[in-house]
Amino acid sequence: MSYTCSVCNETHPGPPYVWGPGPEAPDAWNRATASRQEDGELGTDQCVFPDGDKPRCFVIGRLEIPVVGEQEPFAWLVWVEVQASDFFGMSEKWHQEGRETTPPYSGLLANHLSIYEHETLGLPIRLHTRSVGERPYIEVIGEHQLQSEQRNGIPESRVREIAERLSH
Ligand SMILES: [Zn+2]
Repeated sequence: MSYTCSVCNETHPGPPYVWGPGPEAPDAWNRATASRQEDGELGTDQCVFPDGDKPRCFVIGRLEIPVVGEQEPFAWLVWVEVQASDFFGMSEKWHQEGRETTPPYSGLLANHLSIYEHETLGLPIRLHTRSVGERPYIEVIGEHQLQSEQRNGIPESRVREIAERLSH
């Protein structure tokens, strides 16, 4: 699979249907002091660090957007901030069969996605647990372009446009 790029006129592989995990850490982690980072942990799927008397807790989820006429959705792999109690609940169920019946958690998007005109950081979401080995599904509930794209789907040309903007 490849496409001709309208920015540089070269042929690039893709366009990719999945971006991430990227940014590689929650924005709040990147802004945290060195000592908080030392007392915290940034893993491939979870991130936690102390902030005052309670921890700030994050997990990576898949913000999937249907692509019109395609089976495979487009997906942002992005960080979301969740309540500490939910974070520890998720950790307990990490390997538990049937965990996908867990009611959704509330959270906030924890990354700035530069291709959107309006801020994505702090956007309210619901996080839906999937079966063991699958990253959770992020449902955008705040008013935003991301929410309407998730509800209505995007054309394949939008997937290409995202790739063009992110690779240059
Ligand atoms: Zn290009």
